[in-house]
Amino acid sequence: MFGTALSQLRYGASILLNRPIHTVDLDRIARDLVRTLDEFGEPGADSALLPGQAAQVDPAVRTSVTGRSLRATACAAARHTAYYRRVFDRLGTRPEDITLDTWARVPVTPKKDLRGLPAAFVSAAANPVLMASTTGTSGTPTAVWFSRADLDVCVAMSTISATLGLGLRRRHVLAYAGCSRATLSLLNTEESVTRVGASFLQFGTIDPTVALDRLAAPLGLPGKADRVTHLIASASYLAALVEEAEQGGWRTADFGLETIVVGGEVLSDPLRERAEAALGGTVTSSYLMTETAPAGATHCRSGHLHFTTEFSHLELLDPRTHEPTPPGEIGMIVQTPYTPYRDCTLLLRYATGDLVRRPATDPDCELVHLPATSPILGRWTGPLSTRITTRSVLELLEAEREIPLPARYALIEETAGPRLHVLARPSADRRRLLGRLEDRATAAGMSVAAIVVHEDPDDLPPTGPVRADLREHTFESTAKSPVVSGSSR
Ligand SMILES: [Zn+2]
Repeated sequence: MFGTALSQLRYGASILLNRPIHTVDLDRIARDLVRTLDEFGEPGADSALLPGQAAQVDPAVRTSVTGRSLRATACAAARHTAYYRRVFDRLGTRPEDITLDTWARVPVTPKKDLRGLPAAFVSAAANPVLMASTTGTSGTPTAVWFSRADLDVCVAMSTISATLGLGLRRRHVLAYAGCSRATLSLLNTEESVTRVGASFLQFGTIDPTVALDRLAAPLGLPGKADRVTHLIASASYLAALVEEAEQGGWRTADFGLETIVVGGEVLSDPLRERAEAALGGTVTSSYLMTETAPAGATHCRSGHLHFTTEFSHLELLDPRTHEPTPPGEIGMIVQTPYTPYRDCTLLLRYATGDLVRRPATDPDCELVHLPATSPILGRWTGPLSTRITTRSVLELLEAEREIPLPARYALIEETAGPRLHVLARPSADRRRLLGRLEDRATAAGMSVAAIVVHEDPDDLPPTGPVRADLREHTFESTAKSPVVSGSSR
C-alpha cells in the first residue's frame, strides 16, 4: 500500500474545525477524487484534497484534539480488549481521565506482547475478518487482525495517496514486487490501483532476472503505457534488481519506469541513486507498518520523516528506559493509532522497534507543522544498533561497486570494539576496497574498531535475513536461487 501522502494534503475543514474525519467520509473522498480524475484528468481547484497545501492548525487546537483522540482510543482499548483491560486495572487510572499530560503513565506495549497473543488486542466490538502478518525478517512474524472497516479506511487512504501523492493515473501500470505474503500491503495496493483505473501486475519477490525481463516487456495494451511505469519493492529486493541490471548490462532505456516506491526497509542514498541510474524513474519511500496502519509518515524535501497527527500519536522514546528522547538523540518510534481509523486491533503506545534521530533544532520545511524525525535509521536490537545504525552501514557499503547488492554484512561486538565483516566480489581489489571503506567510515564518524573484507560467503559470520531473501520461485527461473548466509537490515 502507499504511504501517507495525506500529511501533505489539505483535506477539508474537518481538522481545522477540530472535528475528526468520519471513516465513511474518507471512502467518499477517495471515490470522488477518482471520479474527478476520470472526468478532468486532475483534481479540481476546489478539491478538498490538494497536494502541498497542508492545513496549518493552531497548536492549542492540536493539543486538545490529541488529548481527546488518546482518551477515546484508551477507552475503547480498556473497554473492549483483554490486554488493555488488565493494563488499566493494574494502572489504577481510569481511561476516561487520561490527558496528554498523564499519557506517559500508560505502559509502552512491547512488540512481543502483540506477537505472543494477537487476539488479546482485538476489540470485542469489532469483527476481525483479515489476519495480516509482518514479514518477520527481524524474528517471528507478528499477526495483526483487521476488520472490514479498517480495510476500507486503509484502501481509501491508499487510493488518495496513490492519486495525489504518487500521481497515479489510468495510463499507468504498476508492478508489485513486494512479498506476496504481505497481505495488507498487497490487498491495499491492488484495490487502490485498480480503483484508480490503473493496471496492476503481481510479481512477488521473484528471480531478479525474470523481474527485469517482465519490466522491459512491451505490454501492447490499448490506452496504457507500453511498459510497467511504477514498481513497488523492498529496499533489499530493489538492491537485488540494481545488481542484476548493473551486472547484466541493462540500460534505463530498456525500461519505462517513472516511479519506484520503496518501503519496509532502510533505503540508503547510494542505493536510491544507483537504482535511478540503473532502472530509471524516481525512487520514493515512506513509512508505514502493518501494526500501526493506516497511520504513517512521509518524507519532506529536506529529508525529514513527518508523521500524520490526525490518525495516530507519535512518541520518540529511549528503547530501554522509555523516557522521551532529547533533541539530537536517537530514539524509538512509539505509536498509538487512533480509533475510529483503527477499529479491530487496538494498540496503545506500541513499541515499533524502529529507530530515528530527533532533530536537534525545529525543522524549517514545507511540513513544519507535522512532527519530524530523521529517516529510519534501523531497528533496535541492543545498544550497538544505536551506536552504529543500519543506515550508516548501508550508506557506507551500498556506495561501493565492489560489494554485491544487497550488501551482506555482520556487525560483531568484540573486546576491542565493533568489527564490521563485509562480503566483496571475488574480483574485488580487497586492499583498496578496505582502504576506501576505512576512510569513509572515519569521515562518517562510524565507531567501528575494524572492517574485515570477505570474498567467500561461507567465511562471513552469520547475519540476519533481508526481505530479498524471501524469494518466490517461478518456473521461468533458470538461474539457481542464491543461497547466502544473510545480512542484517
Ligand atoms: Zn521536513
